[in-house]
Amino acid sequence: PVRVRFAPSPTGMLHIGGLRTALYNYLFARKHNGTFVLRIEDTDQTRYVEGAEDDIRRALAWTNLDVDEGPDAGGPFEPYRQSERAGTYREYADQLVEQGDAYYAFDTEEELEAMREEFGTEHAAAKYDASTRHKMRNSISLSDEDVQELLDSGADYVIRLKVPSDRSIRFDDEIRGTVSFESSGLDDQVLIKSDGLPTYHLANVVDDHLMEISHVIRGEEWLSSTPKHILMYEMFGWEPPKMAHLPLIMSPEGGKLSKRDADDLGIPVFVNQYEEEGYEPDALVNFLAFLGWNPGTEQEVFSLEELCEAFSLKRVGSSGTQFDLDKLNWYNEQYIRQRSIDELAVEAKPLLNAAGIEASDERIKEVVELMQDRITKVRDLATEARYFFEDPTSYDEKGVEKRWKEDSADLLEQYADAIEEMDEFTTDNLNSTLRSIADENDAGAGRIIHPSRLAVSGRTYGPGVFSLLHAVGQDACVRRMRKAIE
Ligand code: GLU
Repeated sequence: PVRVRFAPSPTGMLHIGGLRTALYNYLFARKHNGTFVLRIEDTDQTRYVEGAEDDIRRALAWTNLDVDEGPDAGGPFEPYRQSERAGTYREYADQLVEQGDAYYAFDTEEELEAMREEFGTEHAAAKYDASTRHKMRNSISLSDEDVQELLDSGADYVIRLKVPSDRSIRFDDEIRGTVSFESSGLDDQVLIKSDGLPTYHLANVVDDHLMEISHVIRGEEWLSSTPKHILMYEMFGWEPPKMAHLPLIMSPEGGKLSKRDADDLGIPVFVNQYEEEGYEPDALVNFLAFLGWNPGTEQEVFSLEELCEAFSLKRVGSSGTQFDLDKLNWYNEQYIRQRSIDELAVEAKPLLNAAGIEASDERIKEVVELMQDRITKVRDLATEARYFFEDPTSYDEKGVEKRWKEDSADLLEQYADAIEEMDEFTTDNLNSTLRSIADENDAGAGRIIHPSRLAVSGRTYGPGVFSLLHAVGQDACVRRMRKAIE
């Protein structure tokens, strides 16, 4: 059976790339009638951020990615929070020590620092390997008695993986095919830290095994950890899950999308920012699905259900995929167009109120209906539709230059007078009245239409002019037209 997991570390607000990982796992689970597990990887206490787990939960709920097993949902492999499973990892680390596949290391920070200097690497751990381990203070280089003495004295230690010195480690990645690493490039990974808690590597492997995970689907940044994991599966005598590493999300300017870069380009990095900025969750999901995957057809708009049906790891590319904010905005527009007027109006009301616009539900609905196809986000109504509720304070300059002719004031005055006299203020009457005034003056209808739109909305574009005038209201139309003539 297919069992996949989303295994975030609560070290900050959930990143948009993290949500994509969650989504692909979810889609894969649904596609194969499998199980979608949420596992919280919180064994690094120094990086723990208060509220991060809540943020993960909230992001999944917002995007409707239902978790089958997890800290809230429960399940047969509880607990799903690694900090609550510390004892389990320790047992497995001890097993590796007994087998001779792991060892105690007692080096102090200073000793590691000295090694760092000697080998000139940035990262001490990177040189703690088969070639250097005998120079360090650990249970390989010390006598059994010394080791026992140190342990008895309560000295600080870590447990490290004993990486073989000279091996090729190969595995088949579902997305990138055969991948191989030389063990000589791998450090003796710490498995248990001096605080007694496991590192990501140990906890991740143990839990993927115990939770019977069939496929590990995660970001490419974890690819270099996989050979260490494969080694550990071997040492434990366990069958490794299938591996799939998702392509990096690239900045539109090239390179991996970083926070700084995203800030410069106005691309939100965290999922909660998308919510705050008023994106439709369905649109975000649809967009993220295409950030690395495509269905191989022309279809671009997919409901979550349709995505579950269409998704396949075979159609996930292995090269980086570029983040395109315009595309996300396009998706958002598509989803807004699919929503009901009533629903949009209910959502728009508090946004309009907050922008100082008060109007009846009926009027809001009328405006929403006219503007639904013309906004990117619901909140755009507060700016894009302001003129329905308030007289314009300025007129589009280019529009005036182009559309305001010598006869505009005269024609508009006649139209305003006629509107004032109108018994039934309907779009039909607005239309027929305008046309008869145009005829009488031997002018094209456009000679009144364009100045009317400018006078009433201040703009040169928008919904059909008669619908626009109608939604603005009879008195306001007359007042605005007369004001524009002045
Ligand atoms: N805890 C890791 C993270 O924060 C999980 C990586 C994996 O899926 O193995 O992304």
